[in-house]
Amino acid sequence: MKRFFIERSQIIKTSPVIDGQDAHHITKVFRLKPKDRIILIDGSGMEYEAQITGFSKNKVFVSIIRKYSPDTEPPVQITVGQGYLKDKKMDMLIRHLTEIGITQWIPLTSEYSVPKPDTKRINSKIQRWEMIAKEAVKQCRRTRVPEILSPVTFQEAVEENSGADLKIIFYENETVSLTETLRSLNQDLLTIFVLLGPEGGFSNKEIELAKSNGFIVASLGPRILRAETASLSACTIIQHLFGDMC
Ligand code: SAM
Repeated sequence: MKRFFIERSQIIKTSPVIDGQDAHHITKVFRLKPKDRIILIDGSGMEYEAQITGFSKNKVFVSIIRKYSPDTEPPVQITVGQGYLKDKKMDMLIRHLTEIGITQWIPLTSEYSVPKPDTKRINSKIQRWEMIAKEAVKQCRRTRVPEILSPVTFQEAVEENSGADLKIIFYENETVSLTETLRSLNQDLLTIFVLLGPEGGFSNKEIELAKSNGFIVASLGPRILRAETASLSACTIIQHLFGDMC
């Protein structure tokens, strides 16, 4: 069954209505008909099996058949502080990190950041990333859309996330492996904050600032990974060690 988003405010109504892009997909792209069954997600972590009951203009009327919580959300909440990359790489990252299961994504500017976010266009960028994340949620059968925050500075990212249960900054000059670093850690963590640098990497000053805020410095091995490779690898390893990627 095809999956579509519905506003949370709609799902509690006796006759919920789907509108916007998902209504367009239902009627014009997939050409579904009344009595067809679909899966609805409202971003709350629940899923709803529903039946189409009718259409009007760009609205689709449904009735909810059953509500359930599929087990597709990870047990840990991973927040990624991502050194700002070129547009295409940021688009690719939010798509794949959503599939890997992150909870929050914070673009950040650091000393060696090139490019830096275009403040005039950042709102439309965030809307684009939110749309990419929603499509990825539908495709990978998640039920929660990662939260995408506005860009912050490296210092703001470090200081505003110092409350996470586990904080890691990935640094290519570190020699101790992540597994080695985490060996002594107790496993029952809930919130994990990871920092990945821009193409130019983090400065020594930034590494020291992170360390002084309780961050673990970790290596992803002896090779220098491209920024986007490092982010995907780091989040996959974290999901494997603490989450639900077996
Ligand atoms: N400017 C650095 C250089 O050329 O040596 C490379 C930075 S790398 C392209 C971008 C980011 O990926 C780094 O800031 C780091 O967060 C991460 N990264 C890449 N390779 C890594 C490794 N082997 N261990 C840990 N982090 C790595």
